[in-house]
Amino acid sequence: MTNGDYQMYWQEAMRQIREEVGENEFSFWFSQMEYIGATDTEIGLSFPSSFYRDMVKSRYKTRIENKLKTIMGKAVSLSFEIMTRPPVRTPPVSDTMRMPLAPDTHSVPSAPSTIERRPPQLMPQIAAVKQPHSQLRGDYTFERYVIGENNNFAANAAKAISLNPGTTKYNPFLIYGGVGLGKTHLMQAIGNYIHWHNDCKIIYISAESFLNEFVDCIQKNSMPAFRNKYRFIDVLLIDDIQFLQDKAGIQNELFYIFNALYDTKKQIVFTCDRPVSELKQFSDRLRSRVGLGLTVDLQPPNYETRYAILKAKLQEHSVVIPEEVISLVAQSVATNIRDLEGALTTLVGYAELVGKPITIAVARQQLKGVLASPAPVSTPHAPVELVIQAVSACFSFSPDELRGAKRSRKIVEARQIAMYLTKEITEYTNTEIGQIFGGREHSTVMHACQRVEEQLRSNPQLEASIEKIKTDIAMNVAG
Ligand code: ADP
Ligand code: MG
Repeated sequence: MTNGDYQMYWQEAMRQIREEVGENEFSFWFSQMEYIGATDTEIGLSFPSSFYRDMVKSRYKTRIENKLKTIMGKAVSLSFEIMTRPPVRTPPVSDTMRMPLAPDTHSVPSAPSTIERRPPQLMPQIAAVKQPHSQLRGDYTFERYVIGENNNFAANAAKAISLNPGTTKYNPFLIYGGVGLGKTHLMQAIGNYIHWHNDCKIIYISAESFLNEFVDCIQKNSMPAFRNKYRFIDVLLIDDIQFLQDKAGIQNELFYIFNALYDTKKQIVFTCDRPVSELKQFSDRLRSRVGLGLTVDLQPPNYETRYAILKAKLQEHSVVIPEEVISLVAQSVATNIRDLEGALTTLVGYAELVGKPITIAVARQQLKGVLASPAPVSTPHAPVELVIQAVSACFSFSPDELRGAKRSRKIVEARQIAMYLTKEITEYTNTEIGQIFGGREHSTVMHACQRVEEQLRSNPQLEASIEKIKTDIAMNVAG
């Protein structure tokens, strides 16, 4: 357990005792007390005089120790000290636990005006410079998150939550979208912002690690520790919850953690690679909880946003890349931001290692694999219509039939080909393609693509038809 864990348990113990004894009694005795730190077996408290120390000790020592034992699942003793120092305004207990804010040398995201920056508290024994959050990447901030029309809504909601965690109607907050579109970055930006501007206990964890931890605790028979770790926090960020599908035990546990946090207005944020409705192997009650607050989806960025992201990322490097190369990359790498970064890293690496300027020719050479992918199309909606038109013309169906509910063999085949082509030449995820083709499941799209790929290996006629359709689409794009 870290010092932070102890502080969190301490805070919770104080909160409970305050509730039990009432505000007056609590503030009379406890406001004179300061939490000064913890070891594995002991929590240190200090008092301004022997009067307070002795009174609190005789009246509350056992009560506090019992409370801590219940919350932490293990016994700790209390040590009572007198602290002699110049009189200062002694803040109430909940405030004494607050760590000083980050010094200005850190790149703290600029504070929106509504957040009040608290002055550092005087805490001689445990005074420490606020450290970056150990589970969050320091560079996943709002400042580094380029906003475009694809993520505008999501980013604004994330900022609103960061300003008032737990108290907005955006609780829980679910960000979903395909791979590399910025879910983790945005989630961690929320965490970083809250971390630097408040004294909150924040946990960020991938669903996979969450599951591993859970399994570990079951094996070690330490479930109370697992529960307490997640129940007494202010912000819970769980990344990629689709990973918990099929795992009833952890879903059950998450359900209880969720309720405990939600009921006490603590902020919960999830990311997922698909909409909640598609989390089929999720218990109904957990699925309904996850979708209770605000759900936003991240779309692939359009050309302008891709260009802006490249420009922003380039500022972190010392190499110069000509405008025309930046536009080439922005045009060609349309899948997601991770790929965009990958292309940029390749070019920057080349420039740094080879020491030559990056011309269009160099870029084409270095990004052969990436640039060889199908012709980029800048508006993501148009190509789907082109695919649908070309496929329906080829198989003599109407576009509506292709998008509709009919399931005759011929139309299913044509629809599968249309899904396959849409997947190949647009930026849509399986989920989105499913929606376009009559609100079908993303697994249906996956299955369609696999089937067409399989058939392509053995059916030259199909291959020819698909090539013909592609040519039609390309001609329509060009025209
Ligand atoms: P996901 O979790 O959706 O798979 P990530 O959050 O890991 O995606 O993003 C992939 C990469 O792209 C990360 O390095 C991230 O910093 C970067 N990135 C994503 N969205 C943006 C954005 N809007 N502006 C700048 N960088 C971004
Ligand atoms: Mg991620």
